[in-house]
Amino acid sequence: MNADDLRRWDNEHVWHPFTPMLEYRADETPIIVAADGFDLIDIDGNRLLDGVCSLWCNVHGHRVPEIDQAIRDQLDRVSHSTLLGLANEPSILLAKELVDHAPRGLTKVFYSDSGATAVEAALKIAFQYHRQKSPKQEHRDLFVTLDGAYHGDTIGAVSLGAMDVFHATYRDLLFRKLTVPTPVTYRVPAGHTPESYLDYCYAQLQRVIAENHQKIVAFVIEPLVQGAAGMLVHPEGYLKRVRELTHAFDVPLIADEVAVGFGRTGTLFACEQEDVCPDILCLAKGITGGYLPLAATLTTDEIYNAFLAEPKEGKTFYHGHTYTGNPLGCAAALASLRLFDINDVLGNVRTIGARLHERLNQFSQHCRFVGEVRQRGTMIGIELVKDRESRQPFSADIRLGQQITRAARRRGAFIRGLGDVVVLMPAPAMPVALIDRLCDIAFESINEVMERLSNSP
Ligand SMILES: *Cc1c(COP(=O)(O)O)cnc(C)c1O
Repeated sequence: MNADDLRRWDNEHVWHPFTPMLEYRADETPIIVAADGFDLIDIDGNRLLDGVCSLWCNVHGHRVPEIDQAIRDQLDRVSHSTLLGLANEPSILLAKELVDHAPRGLTKVFYSDSGATAVEAALKIAFQYHRQKSPKQEHRDLFVTLDGAYHGDTIGAVSLGAMDVFHATYRDLLFRKLTVPTPVTYRVPAGHTPESYLDYCYAQLQRVIAENHQKIVAFVIEPLVQGAAGMLVHPEGYLKRVRELTHAFDVPLIADEVAVGFGRTGTLFACEQEDVCPDILCLAKGITGGYLPLAATLTTDEIYNAFLAEPKEGKTFYHGHTYTGNPLGCAAALASLRLFDINDVLGNVRTIGARLHERLNQFSQHCRFVGEVRQRGTMIGIELVKDRESRQPFSADIRLGQQITRAARRRGAFIRGLGDVVVLMPAPAMPVALIDRLCDIAFESINEVMERLSNSP
């Protein structure tokens, strides 16, 4: 296809997600036509190193022979058959594998197709569970989340969310929730030191759960790292504390591992690092190696058993999506899981995590606009500030993230930030040499934009 026609039709007909379309249409966005390893290739033949894993989902690179072959083999059998009244082989095998790999006690797998739908299913399962368990607790109608939470863009997931830029518009459509403060200390309220603020966060966590536990449906958390909020890294032990408190007050814990799952933080699932077993686990993004839309919501027997009853008792989970348990997606996910072992992907995360740490350290010492570098495994946020001392942010009108994205694109990498936070999220399987290239490009791009801003009045 002719590049000019495609660009015109893209501008005329495609509404891109999370995208100010006026700005987008004025830009010359690459049109991806192929990929090779960790590079995306655009219609003009330019290569772009995939610096954010095609939005946090790719794991082993693109066109991985083993995953490609698994999907082809499945294509030769059947592409889709429903899970409503039928079963299919890949979805059974994958459920078994997920249960074997997941934290203890998660034994049941409910499939859907995106992170938001995995969370949406979790919410409804938790809500219904309390109404059907014995003795039932119908008064539970509040979820607890963290400030800055992001759990997806369907209305239930948005109700849990606490990011004004994304969520404020829909306030009147949303259900009520309780929030606890995010335990991070880069900016603390006046009158607090970092230490006193962390104490306050832990105290609030305890207070909100202790005072409301009889009304709480579930506590929902992105374990270890709050991605969309700007790669906010929780202090060690916070997740464990959440689990202790939710246990003590009999509140189910929903772990949204849509972003952190599948190796990104150094373990297959982030919960493992604090030896936490949630009651419900949400998985998506990396589950298929970043190949196909598939998601899973795992639960315990305890929860699942509350739905076991004669049909006339009305305890069925009446929820699902047409492509639930899609065989192609499940086949890709099975192949991806096998590659974790074959290629020691978690070992690679340790290696490249250390390299990233070293490079980020050097860079932040030299660039006076780096306010804070946040990292857990391969998840990285570099917060840029106008003034390091006062931590004053840049004006939003500058479109800093967008400028850096463009500068990186000219140098041959695709990165996409969150406001003034430059995000790097290399694939867990990316080799060290490419990590160095990604760092070079990202740092040069930041320097270029910072120099331009320093020189403009
Ligand atoms: C991306 C994300 C979601 C939503 O996933 P989609 O597949 O985009 O619907 C949910 N939770 C977290 C933590 C995420 O990062």
